[in-house]
Amino acid sequence: MADSFAQKVREELLHVTRMAPHCRKAQQSARRLFSRESNERFEPKKDCCIRAFIRGAFIEAGTISDPARSYHFEITCPDEYAAVDLLAMLEKCGLEPKEMLRKNNIVVYIKEGRQIKDLLTLMGAPISMMAFENERILREVRGGVNRRVNCETGNIGKTVAAGVKQIRAIRSLQENGTFDGLSDALQDVAYARLENPEASMEEIGQLVIPPVSKSCVNHRMRKILELAGVR
Ligand SMILES: [Zn+2]
Repeated sequence: MADSFAQKVREELLHVTRMAPHCRKAQQSARRLFSRESNERFEPKKDCCIRAFIRGAFIEAGTISDPARSYHFEITCPDEYAAVDLLAMLEKCGLEPKEMLRKNNIVVYIKEGRQIKDLLTLMGAPISMMAFENERILREVRGGVNRRVNCETGNIGKTVAAGVKQIRAIRSLQENGTFDGLSDALQDVAYARLENPEASMEEIGQLVIPPVSKSCVNHRMRKILELAGVR
């Protein structure tokens, strides 16, 4: 079965055309190497070129699973030298890649959601990254809800939707750098929410120190959503 998410990522990466000549050279070298057109090694020096190299390798020999089903990112390497180089580059980007042998090919892979998200960003696929991240948040929240569905009835759908929206707002504030400037009161409820995606507003109120009322949590969450421009 064709993996449509992988195709979308590849499409998006193929549209990354604005890049410096040094990065272009790195990407082209990776594409020749990972498509087995050439076995010439290439060692990118700059971080930008390392990212371009990983992008080229993925375009030719990579795949990624649909985040609704599982988290799996991999690149099939043409030989062990390429695998050693690729592992080192991914590690230099702060990731923890692993390797395995499949039909005499070395496959470099990552199975951790957070790291795959970072990879999508650094390869230059922000649209796929957002799709991946939305799916990941939904999965986290659903997992939480499923664990407690037996002891709770009522507005689960609403609670989940609100939690997803709030987490999205908090993450966007973290990503654009404004989160650290928020008051402690706002940061406290934000952290309580990130750690408890499925909790009701009342429960969030009980998780902060000192505990606050549901309407107080409501007020703070509205402020967070407003700052993040999430409606
Ligand atoms: Zn470069």
